[in-house]
Amino acid sequence: MSDVLAVADHRRGELRPVSYELLTAGRELADALDGDLHAAVVGGNVDRFADKLDCEGVDAIHTVAEGSEFNHDVTVAAVTALFEALDPSAVVMPNSVNGLDYAPAVATRLSLPLVTDAVALDYDDGLTVTREMYGSKVETAVAVDEGPVALTVRGGEWPAAEGVGEAAIEAFEVDIDESSIRSTVRGFEEVGAGDVDISEAEFIVSVGRGIEEEENLELVEELADALDATLAASRPIVDNGWLPKNRQVGQSGKVVTPKVYLALGISGAVQHVAGMKGADTIIAVNTDPDAPIFDIADYGIVDDLFEVVPELIERFES
Ligand SMILES: Cc1cc2nc3c(=O)[nH]c(=O)nc-3n(C[C@H](O)[C@H](O)[C@H](O)COP(=O)(O)OP(=O)(O)OC[C@H]3O[C@@H](n4cnc5c(N)ncnc54)[C@H](O)[C@@H]3O)c2cc1C
Repeated sequence: MSDVLAVADHRRGELRPVSYELLTAGRELADALDGDLHAAVVGGNVDRFADKLDCEGVDAIHTVAEGSEFNHDVTVAAVTALFEALDPSAVVMPNSVNGLDYAPAVATRLSLPLVTDAVALDYDDGLTVTREMYGSKVETAVAVDEGPVALTVRGGEWPAAEGVGEAAIEAFEVDIDESSIRSTVRGFEEVGAGDVDISEAEFIVSVGRGIEEEENLELVEELADALDATLAASRPIVDNGWLPKNRQVGQSGKVVTPKVYLALGISGAVQHVAGMKGADTIIAVNTDPDAPIFDIADYGIVDDLFEVVPELIERFES
């Protein structure tokens, strides 16, 4: 009983990035416990995901081809049954819309303590989970009592698992009583039809209140086009109605993990940083040399964005 079970997340035929991140978190925990890491994927045609989950450090992959896409009752039944079969020390689930839907039910069925939204896990004579509180202003350490535990981990906090492993892939049979399935997902509608999902973007140009006026957004849109990047924003831009909600990065917006995040006129408030600190490279342009964004930026330009952006456009277009 020192193994860890990590449950992948998928939507519309694609594994969500958090799936690979929770494999890293799960491996970390399994290493501390000296156990194996089991990955699981539930819902519909899941065999297509098995090879993708076979990253370095994964010992076994369990596919549960029940239901179609995400279904609460099916996922609860499958994860519960897998937990009972494997008897691990921890089940690690994504702190995503799906994960937060089924994790409490799984924990209740199995009488496990549940700690949600973990941003770090420490194991030293017992598990301590780090969470954030008060709008990410405070970090709390939750000590978990001895025994198995259910966790949800926040996306963008662990690096994605990579490489190719040698995991055994097994189809897990779970006997699901059809009458126990009381809800189904009837369809899928993107917010802002035709718009992009910033959480999947590789290059992001993000704009904050430094842009001053809605009309000026054209300038950063031009830069995003020149860089073939996705446009995102801090909350005030969205609150002003200048860009749709699905472009908001942060605690009450989306978590993004691009290769490059270019922050233009963004101060770097904790609620914003919560959504973008997982970017590989952060570049900030801000007139204020003391802006908190520079504390986490890999490269910083202390200058007026209205001077810098046109120059960048010119360089990238030529
Ligand atoms: C519960 C809660 C949830 C929240 N959720 C989110 C969230 O999800 N996402 C989010 O972003 N915020 C969120 N916020 C708001 C957050 O606290 C900040 O208010 C917000 O992030 C600030 O946005 P900003 O950096 O664009 O604006 P400001 O803090 O006003 O910063 C503007 C920056 O632009 C710089 N600047 C000005 N002019 C120029 C120029 N010409 N060139 C270059 N730089 C310039 C300034 O020096 C300044 O640093 C939340 C707040 C709360 C309380």
